[in-house]
Amino acid sequence: MARITLENLKHSYADKPENDDDWALKHLEFECADGGAYALLGPSGCGKTTLLNIISGLLRPTQGRVLFDGEDVTDFMPDRRNIAQVFQFPVVYDTMSVYDNLAFPLRNRGIAGEALDKRVRLIAEMIDLTDTLHQRAAGLTADGKQKISLGRGLVRDDVNVIMFDEPLTVIDPHLKWQLRSKLKELHQQVGTTMIYVTHDQIEALTFAEQVVVMHEGSVVQIGTPVELFEKPQHTFVGHFIGSPGMNVIGCELDKGKATLAGTPVATAPVKNEPQPGANLEIGVRPEFITFAKSGIPVNVVRVSDTGRFSIVETKHKDQSIKLLVPEGGIIPSEAAHIRFDAKHTQIYADSRIIT
Ligand code: ATP
Repeated sequence: MARITLENLKHSYADKPENDDDWALKHLEFECADGGAYALLGPSGCGKTTLLNIISGLLRPTQGRVLFDGEDVTDFMPDRRNIAQVFQFPVVYDTMSVYDNLAFPLRNRGIAGEALDKRVRLIAEMIDLTDTLHQRAAGLTADGKQKISLGRGLVRDDVNVIMFDEPLTVIDPHLKWQLRSKLKELHQQVGTTMIYVTHDQIEALTFAEQVVVMHEGSVVQIGTPVELFEKPQHTFVGHFIGSPGMNVIGCELDKGKATLAGTPVATAPVKNEPQPGANLEIGVRPEFITFAKSGIPVNVVRVSDTGRFSIVETKHKDQSIKLLVPEGGIIPSEAAHIRFDAKHTQIYADSRIIT
């Protein structure tokens, strides 16, 4: 396993990139610690696959370097990088048994005999394939086949990194949660550096110790799931993560004090003064807003009951503000007041946090 450093990376598919939009990766610099579990999370088109292909060596970056444990591998072909990859769709040999499929990457490396047998059986046990080891892979369901793919990704213990590219796409929704938690468990057991690419926040937050959130070719935040939830560094992170996402509401700021259309709002303290003319917004998650006797005047416009809580959509002037009310909580029928939990209320200037 290895520490992976991405240094000053940029990538464009255009021959002569001219403007910002010509760059699939705008400027990227971060490090994955040896043995860490990382997720690359972002919507379609944000550059996840481009970055994955640069790490695996399928693509040479237009600018910058990729290092494994400090060694520059930018010009190494994929086979010299010693990585394992698990793709969206199962890659299995249908005519072989499950055992032979799992043994394949080891045999390719010249491993045989007891060492091979022990490793195959250990991995089969981890991914619940022991009972099917001697069946032909062709007879397995799509879920079973994807488990083989996972097993083949995990079976070698000498790889620098295992990369997963949306590996749960073909898995039935009711089995997804099982495999999601299984993958986290597997990381703890094998301890290899792992990078998991997904657009699904639940998969990323369940699996990763550190989530790398990407937006339009840039990394907008790297953090633990709790950090991303409690203190999004960018309005995109707040909005993309959470269900519903963070409320982002236009505001004014005077000497560090925020107001919403004239109503004062307590927020976390401002740490960086915004540039003059910056677009100022308050970010507060629905979980940190409550109905109160006084505060910000709103009208309740819609209530959606999800069982354990209700999502209440309110309007303050023309701004929509959502809050969560736990089951059994009182929801006013029309005009009401709401309050934000100051500690969890942040201010953003041109989408970046300043509190
Ligand atoms: P998805 O989840 O849909 O695969 P992604 O986050 O992986 O999206 P990329 O596939 O890396 O994003 O695409 C990033 C940008 O680069 C997009 O604007 C895409 O259109 C562009 N792009 C990707 N591959 C190529 C290519 N081979 N040639 C030209 N442009 C490309």
